[in-house]
This record gives sequence, structure tokens and C-alpha cells, in this order.
Amino acid sequence: MQNTLSRRISALQPSATLTMAAKAKELKAAGHTVYDLSLGEPDFNTPAHICNAALTAMNEGKTHYTVASGIPQLKEAIIQQYTRRHGLDYSTANVVVTNGAKHALHNVFTVLIDEGEEVIVPAPYWVSYAELIKLAGGVPVIVETRQENNFKVTPEELRAVCTPKTKCLLLCNPSNPTGCMYNGEELGALADVVLEKDLWVVADEIYECLIYGDTKFVSFPTVRPGLTERTCLINGVSKTYAMTGWRIGWSIAPTAVTKSMISLQSQETSNPCSISQYAALEAINGPQECVAEMLVEFKKRREFCAKRIAEIEGLSCPVMGGAFYAFFNIKAFLGKTYGEKFIETDTEWCLELLEKKGVALVMGSAFGAPGYARASYATSLNVLEEAFLKIEEFTKEAK
Ligand code: PMP
Ligand code: GLU
Repeated sequence: MQNTLSRRISALQPSATLTMAAKAKELKAAGHTVYDLSLGEPDFNTPAHICNAALTAMNEGKTHYTVASGIPQLKEAIIQQYTRRHGLDYSTANVVVTNGAKHALHNVFTVLIDEGEEVIVPAPYWVSYAELIKLAGGVPVIVETRQENNFKVTPEELRAVCTPKTKCLLLCNPSNPTGCMYNGEELGALADVVLEKDLWVVADEIYECLIYGDTKFVSFPTVRPGLTERTCLINGVSKTYAMTGWRIGWSIAPTAVTKSMISLQSQETSNPCSISQYAALEAINGPQECVAEMLVEFKKRREFCAKRIAEIEGLSCPVMGGAFYAFFNIKAFLGKTYGEKFIETDTEWCLELLEKKGVALVMGSAFGAPGYARASYATSLNVLEEAFLKIEEFTKEAK
């Protein structure tokens, strides 16, 4: 019999974030107490005015196919938001509304990357980037960054990995999984390399509204002239408005790239859910107090996590400028025995922590950073308090 699965799909790894979340849910369903810090999804309900807009859309019969690339009102709202926030001047011909930001990434990589072309991905990186690049036939070139540099790639590190096959740089700012944030100057220095080496940039700015420190968020294409022609922006409503289940994201890219992504989307999925599009329209054009309210809560949780990580001897993490992740160094606890069990890797450590203490994290290896673990603090302070007590207890068992 012939091989059942294609080579391309056989090489695909399942999403580690979703796998850990599923494991946590399974244990919960079996009656165990689980402190789930695995998944990066706000625990808040979608604000009521957004849900009401979806109800209105349904009641008004907006339940049919829309244009494959999204309703014009939503595209218009998206570009106006970019003008308001960043002074960027796009037209609706630059926008594709997608089934979540993950889908926008799939579209972008599929359209930009030819077989064998390289995409530079600074590590630690969000789990899906490398897999989506490979699925598109590209080669992810992982650049390691350092905790002392807050896991930010430097222009020298970037230049060192460029080859004649390099097509593109992936930048996630603020970062999932590290929570670190580039300032305008740092982005400018990276942009100089991008221009010098004639690269494309996929700039994932999905956490741009979840910023905590004094560093101002700067959208990548604003830092140097000539970047809008070579940048594909990725964004969406999932994180900012607690709308993960609605599945609305988007890309903003040069028109030729956008045109091809629309063709791709028209063949693969058609439009994203019509009702969700109207909800997203209300999210962007409606009152924004809900975002500020959620941010206040995230801020408290971030401070709590930073304090606990500093208190637990042996753990450390970089400055968390944005998003809702704490990415901490657990190297001091590897190569140790816990009870009868010898634990060598971050994966073993996270699995044992889940099994013995009921705390679900995601292992750093899944993000290309062995020796670390990621905690999502998009969950209540009560859960975080319990989870860190258990983590502390676990670290003390290491012999
Ligand atoms: N980019 C980053 C950096 C993310 O953390 C996520 C998490 N889901 C996504 C994209 C995908 O977002 P969505 O849920 O809208 O597909
Ligand atoms: N992006 C979130 C995370 O990193 C959600 C899960 C996913 O889409 O991978 O946890």
C-alpha cells in the first residue's frame, strides 16, 4: 500500500499550547483539581455590547456568505484604527479578514514563501510559526536570543543568519511566549537590516493593546520609510476583546500580496463567520472601556507573577512589557530527582508538575527554548496564587 500521509503533513507537530490545554481539561473532567496556566486566552467573557451586535446581526439575517475577504465595513474599521493608532495610511485593498490571526499567518506564509526559502524566526517563538512556515514549504531559521537581552533579537544576530535564501523575518511584538517588548529604537535598528538585506517582514502585533510598562508600543512599519511595501501586519480581536472563540483576525499587506491571499482564502475557507465579523466591527468601533478594564486586571496578575517568580529561589524571568505570559527559567530544577523520579528536561518537568501538583504550564521546548516554562496569566488571581504555591512546593522537592 502507498504511504497514507503526505510528507508535509507527517512532519507537522501538533500545537503544544493546545495539547497542554487539552491535557489539563482531561484531568479536570476526571475530577482532579487543575490550575490551568497553559492557554493564552483571556478568562473574561466577551463584553456584552459585542455579543449584542452578534445577536442583532443574526436577527437581521446577516447569516449568509460575505465577500471572502470580509465585509467592507469591517475592513474600513480596521484601517481607520491603524490610522488613529499609528498614523498608517492603508486602504481596504490591503486587508483580508480571516478565521483568527492564525489563519492570517497561514495565508501570508503560503503566499510569500516558495519551497526552500528561509524565514528568520527569533526564539523563543510562538509554537505555530515554525510549523506554519514548514507547511508552506519554507524553512524556519531559528535565531536564539538571550534572557539578559529580554529575549530580543539584535541587529547583529539578525544579520548573521541572513543568507541568499532569506525571504522574510517574523517579528512578534509584544512577544508570545516571553511577554518582552521592543521599543521604537530597537525596531528601527532591525528595520535597517531588513532594508539592507531586502527582506519581507511578518509583524504579528496581536498583543499591541496589552502593554504594561512605560515602553510605548510602536507598530513596525512606522519606524522607517519604505517598510509598508515589505511588511505584512497580523492582528485580530481574539486577545484585546476576549474574543478567542469568535475566530476573527486579519492581515494588512501590500495589495499584490493581499490579492493572492484573497484568492487563497476564497478557495480554502471562503469568508470568516458572518456573525463574528459584525461582532468584531462593534468591538473596534464601539466603546473601548472594556479593554482598559481588562488591562487593569491583567496588570495586577502580571505584577503578582513577577513577584512570585522573583520570590521562588532559582526561578527568573525577563521584564514583561506586554501580552499575558510569564516565561521563566527553570534550569536550576532540571537534572534533579523528585521523589523517585529523575527529571532532565523542561518537558518532563512540566508534565510531572501537571501530574503531581495539577499545574498546567507549557514547556519552553515547544517555543524553541529548552530550560524554560510559560505561564499564561490570563486567568484569575486566585488560580495564579494557588498555582504558584504548587510550583514553589514542587521546586522544593528537587534533590
Ligand atoms: N499570534 C500570536 C502571537 C498568538 O499568541 C496567537 C494566539 N492565539 C495568534 C497569533 C492566533 O490568534 P487567533 O486566536 O486569533 O488565531
Ligand atoms: N496563542 C495562544 C497560546 O499561545 C492560544 C493557543 C494557540 O492558538 O496556540 O496559548
